[in-house]
Amino acid sequence: MLEIKQLSVAIDGMEILQGINLDIGTGETHVLFGPNGSGKTTLLMAIMGFPRYQVTKGSILFKGKDITKLPVDERARLGIGMSFQRPPVVRGVKTRDMLDASMGDRGDKVTIDKLAERANMTELLDREINYGFSGGEIKRSELMQLLAQRPELTLFDEPESGVDLVNIALIGDLINELLDKNCHIRTRKCMGLIITHTGHILDYVNARTGYVMLDGRIGCAGDPHEILATIREKGYEECVKCLAGSVPSA
Ligand code: ADP
Ligand code: MG
Repeated sequence: MLEIKQLSVAIDGMEILQGINLDIGTGETHVLFGPNGSGKTTLLMAIMGFPRYQVTKGSILFKGKDITKLPVDERARLGIGMSFQRPPVVRGVKTRDMLDASMGDRGDKVTIDKLAERANMTELLDREINYGFSGGEIKRSELMQLLAQRPELTLFDEPESGVDLVNIALIGDLINELLDKNCHIRTRKCMGLIITHTGHILDYVNARTGYVMLDGRIGCAGDPHEILATIREKGYEECVKCLAGSVPSA
């Protein structure tokens, strides 16, 4: 359903990602590991279609359609959503109004209030988006907005960063709801790609495949828990060896 083929991405003319291949099937959740600066956020921004992230080679297909050149709003309409690592504050727009806009015909006051309750955001609904929110509140707000939008493919950029241990279980719940994890695996439609730095989110959300990104390249596809254990025990250096073996030279 999401097919990324030989994707290279540049920012301001500087190549950041090289030859990325990644497929996510219907109903699947995949996880992306990698040290700071390896290009994880760049990959998500390129999939979402932010113009600063220029695709210099390769293509992105979603539901069989080539979306490589589509603007971000059209990708959102096709069913792609993203929770940002550091989302901006939006002065003058109430969180409630954003939910209302995301839900379109599906939204009414009762539904929105219920959703806010579910995300423990009731007190924050009438505040401006992310204005003065704590780290955990920002992440819960992001996930609540996504639950209003209901994308088929959700990209999560470090959903657990800045979240305390009490809130991480709730974050996990909201992600599971977004990814249809409560449905039987065969009837699951929604897909996810989760960037995690610490791997903590894997205690709450099941994922099928993990990848390690290093210096703008991807490799070491495998069981996410095994990859995480290797990183914890041996560091990313061990993954460099893995990369050397698994990625064909350009
Ligand atoms: P990660 O999310 O894995 O920490 P990023 O995708 O944010 O990595 O960054 C990858 C590389 O791209 C880094 O070297 C970073 O400095 C560079 N980079 C990211 N955003 C920009 C930008 N807006 N302008 C220039 N370089 C950038
Ligand atoms: Mg990042």
